[in-house]
Amino acid sequence: MNLHVPFDNTYAALPERFYTKMAPEPVKAPEMLLLNRALAQELGIDPDALLSDEGVAVLAGNAVPEGADPLAQVYAGHQFGGFSPQLGDGRAILLGEIVGRDGRRRDLQLKGSGRTPYSRMGDGRAWIGPVIREFLVSEAMHALGVPTTRALAAVATGETVLRERPFPGGVLTRVASSHIRVGTFQFFAARGDTEALRALTDYAIARHYPQADGPLALLEAVIDAQARLVAQWMGLGFIHGVMNTDNTAVSGETIDYGPCAFMDAYHPATVFSSIDHGGRYAYARQPEILAWNLAQFATCLLPLIDADPDRAVARAQAAMDRYPERAQAEWARVFRAKLGLAREEEGDADLAIRLLEAMAAARADFTNVFRGLADGTARDWFADRAPFEAWEADWQARLAREEGDVTARLAAANPAVIPRNHRVEEAIRAALGGDLEPARALHAALSSPFADPDAKARPYTRPPEESEVVHATFCGT
Ligand code: AMP
Ligand code: MG
Repeated sequence: MNLHVPFDNTYAALPERFYTKMAPEPVKAPEMLLLNRALAQELGIDPDALLSDEGVAVLAGNAVPEGADPLAQVYAGHQFGGFSPQLGDGRAILLGEIVGRDGRRRDLQLKGSGRTPYSRMGDGRAWIGPVIREFLVSEAMHALGVPTTRALAAVATGETVLRERPFPGGVLTRVASSHIRVGTFQFFAARGDTEALRALTDYAIARHYPQADGPLALLEAVIDAQARLVAQWMGLGFIHGVMNTDNTAVSGETIDYGPCAFMDAYHPATVFSSIDHGGRYAYARQPEILAWNLAQFATCLLPLIDADPDRAVARAQAAMDRYPERAQAEWARVFRAKLGLAREEEGDADLAIRLLEAMAAARADFTNVFRGLADGTARDWFADRAPFEAWEADWQARLAREEGDVTARLAAANPAVIPRNHRVEEAIRAALGGDLEPARALHAALSSPFADPDAKARPYTRPPEESEVVHATFCGT
């Protein structure tokens, strides 16, 4: 079986200070864990060729396929508010880009592929837990209709990675519109390298926003794309967990699934990340944190926006000033859909907020309450039904002014199946024991989240029992 990957690389043609060209570090005994056949086909890669020894060797970093131009990208970033002038791919290698059957250009990247000049104190590796987590959660996000990086494959390395204890190593093959981050701009801005900033800006515009006619238009496009993205997270009860500027993609895709999770019981202050002690990246703070990240992006672009610093600031500020309204509009659009409302009325956002307040008070299950609006089971998630029923009466009065099939709209906007944390953890535990079946079954159930769950999918709609609740998730390291 011959593996052919149709590479067409452009990032590798950017100036040398954008990356370090180097191959991934080979591993001892590569073995396939999970393969995304549908995505392989979308990319124009034969999935059976990926399953061959040659394919698995490529996915583990043991062989560099023809046409690849492997490199580690450099970037910087604010991590929990503190600036690191140099981060970069410390455990990832970009193999190259592919223009898929849909005409879209995408990066093919190995994550967990060994040390690079950007590894700092890290070992450049990942263990199979976070690899399987990112595979399942990023593919679920895609099925849920949220812009996201994708997962082509998860392989085991046959090596041991030392974390709290020894774990089996893994490599994820990540597919992304690009891996350009706000932090990529920050790397050059912090060095006063305006020439590189200009090259990066031109590249990002050509690749992601060809209609944008300059740095200010790029800023506006990224503000819009990110506002839309985070509103979609909010609508799913998704908590990214590490919204650092190096984890904010200029493409508007969700990137860097680390200690992320979907909420079961709703509360706006929910945090999962074991390292987020101050609740900086709590569920309800995500739109505000995004504004902070976008402000860092705007700051990077200032020297390109206008040669006159005061005018540059005024223009960037004007673009940023539109953010609160954009964010609010996107949030309202998402939650209006979740309530089955096709028309726009003045009190719609308040109606959604009042439901969320009742849910927070009851610690009601986020996904099941909204899904339950379609089939009349929402009230079952409230121990005290009175607050919900008071809200429901107002909602019904509002629905009376709607036309069309409200039930179908509700089911199309509110998923039944999400990657619940206890299920993801269960799949990882089984994989540690050599059983990939739970991960495969979960992946399959997550592929049609809006369908009425059949007998196979139904167990995944159940919230965790008290003993199953996962209270903290750990970084992808
Ligand atoms: P993340 O928290 O995954 O967004 O990573 C933040 C930075 O730490 C990036 O520059 C990563 O490449 C780097 N990093 C994370 N884990 C490791 C590791 N095990 N070895 C080397 N670098 C790492
Ligand atoms: Mg990152």
